[in-house]
Amino acid sequence: MEIVIATHNQGKMAEFERLMKGWPVHLRSLREFDSVKLPPEDGESFKDNALIKARAVCSILGMPALADDSGLVVHSLNDEPGIYSARYAGPNATSAENITKLLEKVHGKSDKDRLASFFCVMALVCPDGREWIRTGQCDGLITSAPSGDKGFGYDPVFLIPEYHLTMAQLSPEFKDAISHRGKAVRDIQSVIVDLAREKVQ
Ligand code: IMP
Repeated sequence: MEIVIATHNQGKMAEFERLMKGWPVHLRSLREFDSVKLPPEDGESFKDNALIKARAVCSILGMPALADDSGLVVHSLNDEPGIYSARYAGPNATSAENITKLLEKVHGKSDKDRLASFFCVMALVCPDGREWIRTGQCDGLITSAPSGDKGFGYDPVFLIPEYHLTMAQLSPEFKDAISHRGKAVRDIQSVIVDLAREKVQ
């Protein structure tokens, strides 16, 4: 069975490929379908935006589509950047610009006010109209300066207190084991395996 992952983000796609390795599905990336443009993510929650992306891609390509909407929530900043994580510092902001803005906002704050979580909402939409939602969360702290060169987005400033390492200092496999996306993908695994079985029968 083929599933298209509704993202143009290379970092995310690499994580999906690792996380779904060995599953009975052939992953397609939106990079293979240049003409498919994702609609504006104008929902009010991660769930709204994940569904917007998965529904659009499923209806354009006529195959099951899996989309995640994810982001960072800093509790002392009224849950910013939240659904605006990708464009925190502006519409075409780079990860470095987003990180700079975040570090300015938490400058001088205590550890308690640096508590943060990554959230991931995964939406799977099938051409026959069936839809599934799964979620994952990973808790940590925002550091004062970036460390590490792995991962993407806010990984260099997201500290996992138990390991005294940022997400960008973890091996990819370690990140998968504890990350918000890893948890959500493992949660949707049985749905996808069942769908693949339906196709075979
Ligand atoms: P989305 O593509 O609209 O879901 O935007 C997600 C944004 O949240 C990304 O561009 C990153 O800035 C941030 N983000 C989501 N997941 C991660 C992660 O695993 N590590 C670091 N940043 C992330």
